[in-house]
Amino acid sequence: MNIILLGGPGAGKGTQAKKLVARLGVPQVSTGDMLRAAVAEKTDWGRKAKEFMDAGKLVPDEVVIAIIKDRMSLTDATRGSILDGFPRTVPQAQALDRLVVDIGRTIDHVISIEVDETELIGRLCGRRTCKACGQMFHVQHAPSRETGVCDACGGELYQRDDDNEATIRSRLATYNEATRPLIEYYRGKGSLRPIQGTGTIDDIFQRIVAIVEPGR
Ligand code: ADP
Ligand code: ZN
Repeated sequence: MNIILLGGPGAGKGTQAKKLVARLGVPQVSTGDMLRAAVAEKTDWGRKAKEFMDAGKLVPDEVVIAIIKDRMSLTDATRGSILDGFPRTVPQAQALDRLVVDIGRTIDHVISIEVDETELIGRLCGRRTCKACGQMFHVQHAPSRETGVCDACGGELYQRDDDNEATIRSRLATYNEATRPLIEYYRGKGSLRPIQGTGTIDDIFQRIVAIVEPGR
């Protein structure tokens, strides 16, 4: 089962992707996480990618499409994947459409998590992320039990380099310009399933489950 999660920065794609992984037993494929790993390894293009990311801009399509091709070809993804943060542009979506045909897969659901901009800004400014496992917290809405320590694994919590107000504004502008057209792209294909992205994490998850496991 291949599921695409769409939504602005801070819409909750990563949080819901992790819950879907636990439920469906297929891996999360997050271009953001894979890019941050490359940045941490300080490879040549990891350094290059960091410039785009810190500016709130998109990493070039060729780079992320190549990353996705490699990732979707790994054996753990043969039963499916939860795509979080990819595609983010119409050319990426077209490349994905070709890729799934090439490797004999299908996209089963495109779920758009809808959250308005003021809410997104508040979420991102207070977001803290676990360095070890990627679990996310929010200083006001979802604090960890112990400040700076991950509830899930005891890892250290940090504020992502791009979770500052200037970069957040630029990420939102990039989203509106480059990623929003994808909503129309998938609506046009008849595969878009919008859901309300506010409420508790479990409320939102139930909306997603109702789509991916209808009749349960
Ligand atoms: P968020 O969804 O919270 O904005 P991500 O962790 O998904 O954050 O992505 C962080 C940054 O990584 C993006 O702002 C962008 O620079 C880069 N990135 C992630 N996915 C893609 C993609 N599919 N295409 C281009 N750039 C990407
Ligand atoms: Zn952790």
